[in-house]
Amino acid sequence: MSEATLTETSIPQKRLVVTEIPGPRSREIHERRRAVVPPGVHSVLPVYVERAHDSILVDADGNHIVDVCGGIGVTTIGHTDDAVVAAATAQLNKVTHTLFTMTPYEPYVQVAEHLAQHVPGSTAEAPYKTLLMNSGAEAVENGVKIARKHTGRPGVAVLEHAYHGRTMLTSSMNFKGAPYAQGYGPRAGDIYKAPNSYPLHDGLSGAEAAKRTIAYLEKTAGAEDLACLVVEPIQGEGGFIVPAEGYLPALAEWCRANGIVFIADEVQAGMARTGTVFSIEQFGVEPDIVLSAKGIAGGLPLAGITGRAEIMDKSQPGGLGGTFGGNPVSCAAAVAVFEQIGEQNLLAEAKRIEATFGGGLRELAAKHPAIAEVRGKGAMLAIEVVQPGTLEPDADLVARVIQEAAQRGVLLLSSGVYNQAIRFLPSLKMSDELIADVLLVLDEAFTAATA
Ligand SMILES: *Cc1c(COP(=O)(O)O)cnc(C)c1O
Repeated sequence: MSEATLTETSIPQKRLVVTEIPGPRSREIHERRRAVVPPGVHSVLPVYVERAHDSILVDADGNHIVDVCGGIGVTTIGHTDDAVVAAATAQLNKVTHTLFTMTPYEPYVQVAEHLAQHVPGSTAEAPYKTLLMNSGAEAVENGVKIARKHTGRPGVAVLEHAYHGRTMLTSSMNFKGAPYAQGYGPRAGDIYKAPNSYPLHDGLSGAEAAKRTIAYLEKTAGAEDLACLVVEPIQGEGGFIVPAEGYLPALAEWCRANGIVFIADEVQAGMARTGTVFSIEQFGVEPDIVLSAKGIAGGLPLAGITGRAEIMDKSQPGGLGGTFGGNPVSCAAAVAVFEQIGEQNLLAEAKRIEATFGGGLRELAAKHPAIAEVRGKGAMLAIEVVQPGTLEPDADLVARVIQEAAQRGVLLLSSGVYNQAIRFLPSLKMSDELIADVLLVLDEAFTAATA
């Protein structure tokens, strides 16, 4: 029996609360942390995790917490997936670093091949090409860089409610200045934040919303000054906002007509999360560049910038890269993730979760008037929480529900510019039984928080 199998059998996929949360041991480590880690690095729930498998986190006090966040959509394939651990371990024992821009290695090429196979628009005759980096923000930075090089234009268009990272450029691209950019200025220039499609609030059809977005960009930036439009097909930090039908195709068509590079930021929604390898497949758009990170390597740091060859090929040798970009261990893990998507039928699993988890959330919405909407695709689901009878966000209630759930051993996370949503990013392998338990806790948490 392999080590990995032992890990699995040693962590039953069940909730178990043995102390208050956080417990005494976590609180003790937290005190030490406060002395040496700055408060700008915040933790949503300071339970200190010692082990994890699939959907369960085991903390320093022995609590088994159901993880419905997956490190924000990273452990899409579950924590310590056996095949991912085996692939990464095997690679660790071979070579851990050479620097791809010094002496390359095959796993990097394999990841690029897998991405070329799966990104919509890429074909066997004209495959998309991939640059690998470490993080989502780096993927966005490089996507913008590559689009600027290709077009010779400066402008970057993004959408309201968007989130693209916390580096200097990406924090300027986020819709939410507080807390991501506040006090860290000057912010990067030539960024245009256009209205998005947010069906619950704007009531617009996809065509109407696209018209509004395009009109805004033509007036403020001018199409000929734009290098790229960066969009999350389903907005992540913004609250899992699914755009109205036809919105994304209309934007893509406008980009094509105006020589603007259409960049799909799939950092949160990609890698099988929504029931297709990339979420944009469900909107019928072939983006010029696709950005991957979070779930791509099952918990190891890796990010991909995958684009049309004529765009990717514009950069001069040495113009792209970075010391750790495309680390061999991360690449080996990513290859395993791609293989396991097929082996473990993870696209179908995402659809199963959409049906069972989504169905359960709709039952809760019928019972709790504070839930205005259940939305999302696959295993990327959210509820919007409002003051009943209005569309006013109720961030306090969101915080109380999350707190009540945490006390019961379920890890949830808010989302949205106004913290108006609770998002669910379960492992694609979370069983219906465990989902039923999470829904039960959520029901209790809503009841307790609204009492
Ligand atoms: C998380 C996220 C990023 C940033 O990724 P990091 O790895 O945290 O730098 C960028 N875009 C989207 C859509 C994200 O969800």
